[in-house]
Amino acid sequence: MSIISIIDKAKAEDRTLLSEIESKNILEEAGIPTTHARLAGSAKEAAAVAGEIGFPVVLKIMSRDISHKSDVGGVKLNLGTAEEVEAAYNEIVAAAKKAQPDAAIDGVSVQKMARPGIEVIMGMTQDAQFGPVLMFGLGGIFVEVLKDVSFRLVPITPRDARQMIQEIKGRPLLEGYRGQEPADVEALEKLLLKLSAFVEAHPEIAELDLNPIFAYKDGALAVDARIVLA
Ligand code: ADP
Ligand code: MG
Repeated sequence: MSIISIIDKAKAEDRTLLSEIESKNILEEAGIPTTHARLAGSAKEAAAVAGEIGFPVVLKIMSRDISHKSDVGGVKLNLGTAEEVEAAYNEIVAAAKKAQPDAAIDGVSVQKMARPGIEVIMGMTQDAQFGPVLMFGLGGIFVEVLKDVSFRLVPITPRDARQMIQEIKGRPLLEGYRGQEPADVEALEKLLLKLSAFVEAHPEIAELDLNPIFAYKDGALAVDARIVLA
């Protein structure tokens, strides 16, 4: 489905929160690499989709009422067999129902398990005064606890993209820490520029979160995505 038709469908259903699957489809169309996700409505279907994608896979709860999937036990990583996938499907749905009894559950998303990388995040929020603002940071505690993030107004220039990455305090982690693979900073800069162009072209997008993106020595991959419409 195209960006326009996904947005129209959400509007028709009176939703502003796009699903992980919809958000990733939109980002892929904008040239941003993701672990493409597919919907499964039953344990058997999840196992069949996993077989088509290739193991190991990740399962995540799909619900318009749940935006932080791990908080409700809604994410299972590194599932290696059809049996594991079927069990994970049932566990995820049961955990989500327990945590949020009135949540409407559409099923689960199935996607490839990505190899580990350095977790970074990119986001966009609308400032009442200045319009869209892009954000960059390192994932996990760096954002949540240390607030180690950088911001720029949209549209950004290549120089802004470079500086956004250079100015975070955790930057040495991107250069390969304790034998870890360094991050492809050029790929991250290009991603920020693509995001800037994309949100500039789509003022109907109120909020966007790529959390996390796995950065590798060659390229980067968004493994979670969330788009909120105005
Ligand atoms: P949440 O809604 O809780 O943010 P995420 O989709 O971000 O859920 O998943 C939680 C964590 O699981 C991520 O931060 C990431 O570390 C890991 N993860 C998610 N998807 C994948 C994937 N496809 N491959 C590998 N790890 C993943
Ligand atoms: Mg996430």
